[in-house]
Amino acid sequence: MSEIHSDLLPSALREGYAKFRQFKYARHSQRYMELAVKNQKPSTMVIACCDSRAAPETVFDASAGELFVVRNVANLVPPYAPDGERHSTSAALEFAIHGIGVQHIVVMGHGRCGGIAAAAAQVQQPLSKSDFIGKWMSDVRDVVKSVPCPQGCNASDHHRLVERASVVHSLENLRSFPWISTLETRKELSLHGVWFDVALGELHVFDEQSGNWRLVPSEAPQA
Ligand SMILES: [Zn+2]
Repeated sequence: MSEIHSDLLPSALREGYAKFRQFKYARHSQRYMELAVKNQKPSTMVIACCDSRAAPETVFDASAGELFVVRNVANLVPPYAPDGERHSTSAALEFAIHGIGVQHIVVMGHGRCGGIAAAAAQVQQPLSKSDFIGKWMSDVRDVVKSVPCPQGCNASDHHRLVERASVVHSLENLRSFPWISTLETRKELSLHGVWFDVALGELHVFDEQSGNWRLVPSEAPQA
Protein backbone atom coordinates (compact mmCIF):
# COMPACT_ATOMS: atom_id res chain seq x y z
CA MET A 1 0.00 0.00 0.00
CA SER A 2 1.38 3.42 -0.91
CA GLU A 3 2.33 5.80 1.88
CA ILE A 4 0.07 8.81 2.45
CA HIS A 5 1.99 12.06 2.23
CA SER A 6 1.71 14.36 5.23
CA ASP A 7 0.30 17.04 2.92
CA LEU A 8 -2.79 14.88 2.64
CA LEU A 9 -3.03 14.03 6.33
CA PRO A 10 -0.74 15.05 9.21
CA SER A 11 1.49 12.11 10.10
CA ALA A 12 0.42 12.15 13.78
CA LEU A 13 -3.17 11.55 12.66
CA ARG A 14 -2.07 8.88 10.22
CA GLU A 15 -0.21 7.08 13.02
CA GLY A 16 -3.12 7.45 15.42
CA TYR A 17 -5.50 6.04 12.85
CA ALA A 18 -3.19 3.08 12.23
CA LYS A 19 -3.24 2.32 15.98
CA PHE A 20 -7.01 2.66 16.08
CA ARG A 21 -7.39 0.15 13.26
CA GLN A 22 -4.87 -2.29 14.68
CA PHE A 23 -6.07 -2.26 18.26
CA LYS A 24 -9.38 -0.59 19.11
CA TYR A 25 -11.22 -1.35 15.90
CA ALA A 26 -9.75 -4.83 15.63
CA ARG A 27 -10.90 -5.62 19.17
CA HIS A 28 -14.39 -4.13 18.76
CA SER A 29 -15.07 -4.60 15.05
CA GLN A 30 -18.24 -6.56 15.77
CA ARG A 31 -19.61 -3.68 17.80
CA TYR A 32 -18.74 -1.19 15.06
CA MET A 33 -20.51 -3.42 12.53
CA GLU A 34 -23.62 -3.55 14.73
CA LEU A 35 -23.56 0.22 15.31
CA ALA A 36 -23.32 0.76 11.57
CA VAL A 37 -26.54 -1.11 10.83
CA LYS A 38 -28.51 0.14 13.86
CA ASN A 39 -29.31 3.76 14.63
CA GLN A 40 -27.16 5.26 17.35
CA LYS A 41 -28.90 5.24 20.72
CA PRO A 42 -26.63 6.92 23.28
CA SER A 43 -28.49 7.74 26.49
CA THR A 44 -26.29 10.72 27.33
CA MET A 45 -25.43 13.96 25.59
CA VAL A 46 -22.33 15.88 26.70
CA ILE A 47 -21.71 19.54 25.94
CA ALA A 48 -17.98 20.09 26.31
CA CYS A 49 -15.27 22.58 25.39
CA CYS A 50 -13.18 22.28 22.23
CA ASP A 51 -10.11 22.18 24.49
CA SER A 52 -7.88 19.26 23.51
CA ARG A 53 -7.22 18.37 27.16
CA ALA A 54 -10.82 17.78 28.17
CA ALA A 55 -12.28 15.17 25.83
CA PRO A 56 -15.49 13.65 27.28
CA GLU A 57 -14.90 10.28 25.61
CA THR A 58 -11.56 10.06 27.41
CA VAL A 59 -12.76 11.26 30.81
CA PHE A 60 -15.80 8.95 30.78
CA ASP A 61 -13.92 6.10 29.08
CA ALA A 62 -16.66 5.93 26.47
CA SER A 63 -16.65 3.79 23.36
CA ALA A 64 -18.27 4.38 19.99
CA GLY A 65 -22.02 4.85 20.26
CA GLU A 66 -22.03 5.66 23.98
CA LEU A 67 -21.97 9.47 24.11
CA PHE A 68 -23.58 12.10 21.92
CA VAL A 69 -21.10 14.96 22.15
CA VAL A 70 -21.16 18.57 21.03
CA ARG A 71 -18.08 20.65 21.69
CA ASN A 72 -17.82 24.39 21.43
CA VAL A 73 -15.65 27.19 22.78
CA ALA A 74 -16.01 27.16 26.60
CA ASN A 75 -18.77 24.50 26.66
CA LEU A 76 -21.60 27.02 26.51
CA VAL A 77 -25.30 26.44 26.05
CA PRO A 78 -26.80 29.55 24.51
CA PRO A 79 -30.31 30.61 25.56
CA TYR A 80 -33.24 29.31 23.52
CA ALA A 81 -33.48 31.66 20.53
CA PRO A 82 -35.37 30.31 17.49
CA ASP A 83 -34.50 33.39 15.45
CA GLY A 84 -33.58 31.77 12.16
CA GLU A 85 -29.85 32.18 12.79
CA ARG A 86 -27.49 29.23 12.72
CA HIS A 87 -27.18 27.72 16.18
CA SER A 88 -25.04 24.59 16.07
CA THR A 89 -25.32 23.74 19.77
CA SER A 90 -29.07 24.34 19.82
CA ALA A 91 -29.43 22.19 16.70
CA ALA A 92 -27.45 19.42 18.40
CA LEU A 93 -29.70 19.71 21.46
CA GLU A 94 -32.80 19.46 19.29
CA PHE A 95 -31.45 16.38 17.56
CA ALA A 96 -30.39 14.78 20.86
CA ILE A 97 -33.87 15.26 22.31
CA HIS A 98 -36.14 14.69 19.32
CA GLY A 99 -33.96 12.46 17.15
CA ILE A 100 -32.21 10.28 19.71
CA GLY A 101 -34.21 10.70 22.91
CA VAL A 102 -31.29 11.08 25.31
CA GLN A 103 -32.16 10.78 28.98
CA HIS A 104 -29.28 12.83 30.36
CA ILE A 105 -27.57 16.05 29.32
CA VAL A 106 -24.21 16.83 30.90
CA VAL A 107 -22.56 20.24 30.65
CA MET A 108 -18.85 19.66 31.17
CA GLY A 109 -16.58 22.54 32.12
CA HIS A 110 -12.88 22.19 32.75
CA GLY A 111 -9.90 23.81 34.45
CA ARG A 112 -7.56 26.22 32.68
CA CYS A 113 -10.23 27.01 30.07
CA GLY A 114 -8.67 29.58 27.76
CA GLY A 115 -12.04 30.98 26.68
CA ILE A 116 -13.19 31.48 30.26
CA ALA A 117 -9.82 32.92 31.32
CA ALA A 118 -9.95 35.49 28.54
CA ALA A 119 -13.55 36.41 29.39
CA ALA A 120 -12.71 36.67 33.10
CA ALA A 121 -9.68 38.83 32.42
CA GLN A 122 -11.85 40.94 30.12
CA VAL A 123 -9.11 41.05 27.50
CA GLN A 124 -10.07 41.74 23.94
CA GLN A 125 -7.78 39.15 22.39
CA PRO A 126 -8.38 36.42 21.38
CA LEU A 127 -12.04 37.17 22.16
CA SER A 128 -12.29 40.06 19.75
CA LYS A 129 -15.63 41.13 18.40
CA SER A 130 -14.77 39.89 14.92
CA ASP A 131 -16.00 37.57 13.50
CA PHE A 132 -17.81 35.24 15.89
CA ILE A 133 -16.19 34.69 19.23
CA GLY A 134 -17.01 38.03 20.84
CA LYS A 135 -20.71 37.40 20.42
CA TRP A 136 -20.35 33.74 21.39
CA MET A 137 -18.66 34.63 24.69
CA SER A 138 -20.90 37.59 25.56
CA ASP A 139 -23.00 35.45 27.93
CA VAL A 140 -19.87 34.54 29.89
CA ARG A 141 -19.01 38.19 30.43
CA ASP A 142 -22.32 38.50 32.30
CA VAL A 143 -21.39 35.43 34.36
CA VAL A 144 -18.02 36.99 35.20
CA LYS A 145 -19.80 40.06 36.59
CA SER A 146 -21.95 37.82 38.78
CA VAL A 147 -18.96 35.96 40.29
CA PRO A 148 -16.89 38.24 42.50
CA CYS A 149 -13.32 37.30 43.34
CA PRO A 150 -13.32 36.90 47.14
CA GLN A 151 -10.55 38.43 49.22
CA GLY A 152 -7.29 36.56 48.76
CA CYS A 153 -8.50 34.82 45.61
CA ASN A 154 -5.98 34.89 42.79
CA ALA A 155 -6.68 34.92 39.07
CA SER A 156 -6.67 31.16 38.68
CA ASP A 157 -9.04 30.74 41.67
CA HIS A 158 -11.33 33.30 40.05
CA HIS A 159 -11.19 31.54 36.69
CA ARG A 160 -12.22 28.28 38.37
CA LEU A 161 -15.18 30.04 40.00
CA VAL A 162 -16.21 31.46 36.62
CA GLU A 163 -15.70 28.09 34.86
CA ARG A 164 -18.07 26.49 37.36
CA ALA A 165 -20.57 29.37 37.42
CA SER A 166 -20.68 29.24 33.64
CA VAL A 167 -21.64 25.54 33.79
CA VAL A 168 -24.47 26.44 36.18
CA HIS A 169 -25.53 29.26 33.85
CA SER A 170 -25.58 26.81 30.93
CA LEU A 171 -27.86 24.51 32.96
CA GLU A 172 -30.22 27.47 33.38
CA ASN A 173 -30.04 28.14 29.65
CA LEU A 174 -30.84 24.49 28.94
CA ARG A 175 -34.09 25.00 30.86
CA SER A 176 -34.99 27.89 28.56
CA PHE A 177 -35.56 25.31 25.81
CA PRO A 178 -39.26 24.49 26.30
CA TRP A 179 -38.97 20.84 25.27
CA ILE A 180 -36.06 20.35 27.68
CA SER A 181 -37.83 21.86 30.67
CA THR A 182 -40.98 19.87 29.86
CA LEU A 183 -39.08 16.59 29.75
CA GLU A 184 -37.19 17.47 32.92
CA THR A 185 -40.47 18.25 34.72
CA ARG A 186 -41.79 14.87 33.58
CA LYS A 187 -38.58 13.29 34.93
CA GLU A 188 -37.83 11.88 31.50
CA LEU A 189 -34.63 13.92 31.22
CA SER A 190 -32.00 14.86 33.78
CA LEU A 191 -29.52 17.71 33.57
CA HIS A 192 -26.06 17.58 35.11
CA GLY A 193 -23.10 19.92 35.48
CA VAL A 194 -19.54 18.68 35.87
CA TRP A 195 -16.12 20.30 35.95
CA PHE A 196 -12.94 18.44 35.04
CA ASP A 197 -9.64 19.33 36.67
CA VAL A 198 -7.16 18.88 33.84
CA ALA A 199 -4.07 18.80 36.09
CA LEU A 200 -5.37 16.25 38.60
CA GLY A 201 -7.71 14.30 36.34
CA GLU A 202 -10.48 14.80 38.91
CA LEU A 203 -14.14 15.26 38.12
CA HIS A 204 -16.46 17.42 40.23
CA VAL A 205 -20.24 17.41 39.93
CA PHE A 206 -22.66 20.21 40.73
CA ASP A 207 -25.19 19.34 43.42
CA GLU A 208 -28.17 21.53 42.61
CA GLN A 209 -29.87 20.72 45.92
CA SER A 210 -27.09 22.27 47.99
CA GLY A 211 -25.51 24.51 45.36
CA ASN A 212 -22.14 22.87 46.09
CA TRP A 213 -19.62 21.11 43.90
CA ARG A 214 -18.71 17.58 44.98
CA LEU A 215 -15.73 15.46 44.01
CA VAL A 216 -16.84 12.38 42.09
CA PRO A 217 -15.30 9.25 43.66
CA SER A 218 -12.87 7.57 41.32
CA GLU A 219 -13.74 4.05 42.46
CA ALA A 220 -16.28 2.29 40.26
CA PRO A 221 -19.80 2.54 41.77
CA GLN A 222 -21.27 -0.59 43.37
CA ALA A 223 -23.45 -2.49 40.92
ZN1 LIG B 1 -12.27 25.39 27.54
